[in-house]
Amino acid sequence: MGAHDETRIYDPSKLDSVYDKYVSDVDKIRAIFAHHCEDARFEDGNSSYSGSIGQFNGFVTRRIDRPFDSEDEARKWILKNHEKWTPALAVRFHCLDCSDKPSVKVSRAREAAKKAYQKYKDVSFDIYEKILNGKSPLITCKNCGSKINRHFGHRTSCIGYPACPVCHHTLASITSMNRLKKAEERWKSKSEDADKIEAAEAKKKGKILWMVGGWVGE
Ligand SMILES: [Zn+2]
Repeated sequence: MGAHDETRIYDPSKLDSVYDKYVSDVDKIRAIFAHHCEDARFEDGNSSYSGSIGQFNGFVTRRIDRPFDSEDEARKWILKNHEKWTPALAVRFHCLDCSDKPSVKVSRAREAAKKAYQKYKDVSFDIYEKILNGKSPLITCKNCGSKINRHFGHRTSCIGYPACPVCHHTLASITSMNRLKKAEERWKSKSEDADKIEAAEAKKKGKILWMVGGWVGE
């Protein structure tokens, strides 16, 4: 006897004309959700363990005046707050994918993030190359003191630069690692900037959709 999650997403501006007779969005969504639940009861039976949305007896709206920033956030919130065998929860969220094609501002921010990522990869490769192509055949691990054939370090690499096969510490110098860390931080901050700009635009231009659902017993 378990439970799984069932949610439905509705766009009030794209419902069948059957629902035109309802004035408010919430009444429209209530009507269509009731129909979907009825259909599910007909198809999957009226049991408390049917595992279908037929178990929901209507829904309660939550924080309708404060839509979530994304579909993901809306779903997480519903699943955190819903208990099976209680009415479904209905929330709203900003649909990021529903806005028009990205503006110049968003494209530029994405491009900057892409460049920063390329730079990070280049730095990582550069460090790797330097260790591999050093003059002496042996390199001393600064962490455990082992003397290692440079090319051995190559094989245990798992994060873009050779690591000591004995203690798994990087064979790169502190200066190199700082360089890599800076490049990584820059890439992450550029990505976050782009995400923020995109989310802000979607909020302004994008649609607000409804999500209704929760846990159902099975
Ligand atoms: Zn070592």
